[in-house]
Amino acid sequence: MYELNDYQLRQRDYLLRVSQAINAQLDLAAVLGLVVEYAVELVAGNYGLIALFEAPDDELRIAVAYNITPDQYAAFEPLLETLAGPEATREQSVRELRRVTEQLQLPLRQMVGLPLLIRGRPIGMIVVFRAAVNVAFTVADQALIEAFASQAAIAVQNAQLYRAALQEQQRLNAIIEQSADGVMILDRRWRITSFNRAMEHLTGWPREEALGRPCAEVVGIHNEQDLNVCLTNCPLQRLPRVPNPTAEGKIITRDGRERYVSSRYSPTYGPDDEFLGAIANVRDITARKLEEQQQATFVSVISHELKTPVAIIKGYAGTLRRSDAEWDQATLRDGLGIIEEEADRLNELIGNLLDVSRLQAGGLRLHFGPVDLPALAARVIQGIAATANDQFEFQLRFPPSFPPVRADEERIRMVLANLLSNAVKYSPQGGIVRLGGWTEGDDALIYVSDQGVGIAPEDQPRVFERFYRVDNTLGRQTQGAGLGLYLARAIVEVHGGQLRVESQPGRGSRFIFTLPLERRSLALDRDFASDSSQEED
Ligand code: ADP
Repeated sequence: MYELNDYQLRQRDYLLRVSQAINAQLDLAAVLGLVVEYAVELVAGNYGLIALFEAPDDELRIAVAYNITPDQYAAFEPLLETLAGPEATREQSVRELRRVTEQLQLPLRQMVGLPLLIRGRPIGMIVVFRAAVNVAFTVADQALIEAFASQAAIAVQNAQLYRAALQEQQRLNAIIEQSADGVMILDRRWRITSFNRAMEHLTGWPREEALGRPCAEVVGIHNEQDLNVCLTNCPLQRLPRVPNPTAEGKIITRDGRERYVSSRYSPTYGPDDEFLGAIANVRDITARKLEEQQQATFVSVISHELKTPVAIIKGYAGTLRRSDAEWDQATLRDGLGIIEEEADRLNELIGNLLDVSRLQAGGLRLHFGPVDLPALAARVIQGIAATANDQFEFQLRFPPSFPPVRADEERIRMVLANLLSNAVKYSPQGGIVRLGGWTEGDDALIYVSDQGVGIAPEDQPRVFERFYRVDNTLGRQTQGAGLGLYLARAIVEVHGGQLRVESQPGRGSRFIFTLPLERRSLALDRDFASDSSQEED
């Protein structure tokens, strides 16, 4: 019977403990460090190294060494190549070993090298050297190292796989984190286990607080009836299952804002078809939703706005041409006057609509020239005053000898007419409507003020949006398509100016815009001319 001597028994015991220690490690560098150190100790060696075949060229490179410094690695390369080569003879190996010994002045007298094999395929090599000449590596040493090498190979491969999985996970995390869309991962109980930056931005929930909560709480999608579908009809719980579950609707952010989102889910199911979790891709579709809503409002507002004057015109025209009635001159004049007014209104609306589409297509052409603002303002005020009731007082406030502005007169007339007609429309009790201006540097500042209903602070920036109308009783009673201020601002801006509003609800509003004075463009022309030395005002 083959008996193990004491030394061999101790070695066996050692091997077992070492293998356990190595297999408990998942960090590749730590595993390799342990393997080489234990291997050297196991056979009472003095130096050791592990080389691994490395992607992409599958070259054998030293990954870790014992008692050999990295600057000495290169000297071992020919030796390793020989050892790994298919037909390495003992003589060749000994020759290469001697070369290393001489080159590095290291006492490498004996060597045992073994491949690290995984299912017969080499993943690398472990080599141990001894400095002593008298104690040769025995067959038992060789067998021991072989047993150890196969254990070590498994540990190394585990660590490699773990590292690859970790890297892949880090890569995925980075992709998810950088994604412009919101991405969250849900567990089997629909709780959030991952929540990227875009999600934080979209929902206003900080990641630390969102993690662990049910998704219906953080990203509860509400339908048109304001029901949280994530609670009442969760797309991930619907039966029969749909291939690509989605949900679309409104969410309320942590800070109380409303956003529209479209959420797509990629669920995973277990062997018994049980739900294991899902990745949700959440996209902010607020802009698209608002656009759709605006288009719907646009169609209804425009058709209403077009229908009303047409109905009035048709009614009056029908009445006036009745063959069975005789109308006196005054009635005829009044009736025709109303027909004319309504036709003007239609004309203005159509003009506005055309301008909006030209603006969108970038085809709004302007004819610039010097414009006498006070004179233009007086004409516009006269027109408006003629149609307003006597609860209004119109005031014109320009300093004498107001310098001309550089503008497209017809467009600026439209801006003034829009602002003045709004001042009248949104002042149900009448009051003073003032149109005036002053100069500041090379700019003219023009304002239209009223004592009407005013505009709430949150609506002030929005009144300049296309089709936006403040939703209140007066708004519903007065006609308008929500285009006037949008156009007015666009026109002022193409002149290089700005239009803004100051308002106190219940007290009135003041719209102010700037236009460049003619002298600014003259000064510019002069600067471009060759003799620009003389300054004149
Ligand atoms: P419209 O008057 O056709 O509705 P506008 O673009 O001219 O469209 O104005 C947008 C909205 O801004 C109006 O519906 C109204 O609610 C508000 N608004 C405009 N001017 C005034 C004003 N002078 N006073 C109060 N609200 C105003």
